[in-house]
Amino acid sequence: MPEFFRSRAGRQCLTIMALGAVLWISATLLDVDSWLVSFMSTFENYGADKFVLALGIAGAMSFIYSVLRIADLRKEMQLRDSAQARADWTATHDHLTKLPNRYAFERKILPKPADKDGNLPEEAKSNVTIFSVDLDGFKKVNDLVGHKGGDVLLVEVAKRICALGNADCVYRFGGDEFIIIALGMTAAREEWFAKVLIQAVTRPILIDGFAVEVGASVGYDRWSEGAEPLEDAAHRADLAMYEAKSRGPNHQLIFETSMQDKVTERASLETKLRGAIQNKAIKTYYQPLIDLRSGRLCGFEALARWTDEDGMNIPPPIFIGIAEETGMITELFENLLTQACSDALAWPDDVRLSFNVSPVQMEDKLLPSRIFKVLAASRLPARRLEVEITENALVQDPAIAAHILDELHKAGVQIALDDFGTGYSSLAQLARYRFDKIKIDKSFIATCREDEKQEKIVRAMLALGRSLNIKTTAEGVEEHAQLAYLLQLGCDIGQGYLFGKAMPAAEAGIFIESQNTNLASTA
Ligand code: C2E
Ligand code: CA
Ligand code: CA
Repeated sequence: MPEFFRSRAGRQCLTIMALGAVLWISATLLDVDSWLVSFMSTFENYGADKFVLALGIAGAMSFIYSVLRIADLRKEMQLRDSAQARADWTATHDHLTKLPNRYAFERKILPKPADKDGNLPEEAKSNVTIFSVDLDGFKKVNDLVGHKGGDVLLVEVAKRICALGNADCVYRFGGDEFIIIALGMTAAREEWFAKVLIQAVTRPILIDGFAVEVGASVGYDRWSEGAEPLEDAAHRADLAMYEAKSRGPNHQLIFETSMQDKVTERASLETKLRGAIQNKAIKTYYQPLIDLRSGRLCGFEALARWTDEDGMNIPPPIFIGIAEETGMITELFENLLTQACSDALAWPDDVRLSFNVSPVQMEDKLLPSRIFKVLAASRLPARRLEVEITENALVQDPAIAAHILDELHKAGVQIALDDFGTGYSSLAQLARYRFDKIKIDKSFIATCREDEKQEKIVRAMLALGRSLNIKTTAEGVEEHAQLAYLLQLGCDIGQGYLFGKAMPAAEAGIFIESQNTNLASTA
């Protein structure tokens, strides 16, 4: 109500009422009624009594009108207030979990923990810690139980986080990321709370009869009260969370300055990589693949090499990883494949080009047509190309992967399963897709002669290849003894420093010329 009287309409109504009251009081004080009676009897003949009566009725009507108008305006203001409150809520909350969102976080004003609880340990009194929680494997849940099931999971996770403490200090920043503001925690308590968060989130959740599990990565850091916006601390908590995530699911980490350095370094590397791809500064090198029975060269694996402007060699797993994350992989792949196909044209007809396809490319339905376009432009026959894919590449989207492999096979391109034994589900993949070759990962070859278990695994892989009629390549052959051993076990192809490291195209030409060396005699 006082709100109403502060509005313009309210002030108008008040003025009318005040005027009425002033008139009324003045009339009473000045004895206006007796004066009116004598006035009307004096001027009776002129109809003054009727005039005064009309004036009285008009006054009463205005008063009633004012009262009704006040009631209307009050109602209108109430409606406006509730609409405003609804709009405010919508702007500051997430509709699914009903938690406040990033915008609400930015507007948050924190109470002083020491004001609320004087019993806090001295060192924790003014501590404000921001925790960032991100789910691991949420996409797989969506795939398994659909988006509605995914929503159920997010609501349950929100409830569990809120149940751990101050529910009004839990925020959903979109997707599967949550932020928690915790007050008055010691360092030990922060670590403990991060672990409790992980435990709470990772307990199975029942959705449509499925017991669904997700992982959680947690990062956290203190807010420098008064010295920075709260978002800065949330950003550092995020960086710590990403670092925790990179160590596998269910890790928690406190922020360290090296994490910020890593991000800055990565951003600069990304810019350099963009330039290197545009300028075609990344080159393909070729590592020989040797037929172990004949000792002859049967192919080259193309491996990307990048020396940046400062002369630094950037390892392929680093720049390929950045290219994958930033979507530059397609352009890089097309550049490198074009280079490699044109180099391979100069090789003998029976020397095949092996080319790595990264897991993210196996989600691209257009991959076969991209490859065919490069093959057609370079005039390299499809049968001379072999693509190497890892097991992990088949897990992302098995239907698209099957389509890609089918198209490539139909065109005559060979498919090799790379890094066999290190990925997700080796045997299931072998049964489901048709492979022409299995490449046994170099980690098995390196240890198989000293480690009995590894040796048994290598034997089993070779036997599996034979029984499925798929050729086997041993990666990372570095010693003559390894070669002799692999020959004895019946491995088909060898690759490794013993035969040659990855070399530029010109050196590959020289290698071809000298390839008549009988490798069997070196064994
Ligand atoms: P990969 O496909 O398993 O390639 C074999 C890696 O093992 C190469 O490392 C090669 O230099 C190394 N290697 C070969 N023989 C030996 C050996 O005897 N001993 C040891 N210790 N290592 C050996 P590189 O070139 O550093 O490549 C690493 C990974 O980067 C590759 O693993 C591949 O996954 C990826 N990569 C390289 N080039 C490309 C590319 O053009 N496209 C894609 N998508 N990935 C690539
Ligand atoms: Ca490979
Ligand atoms: Ca490999």
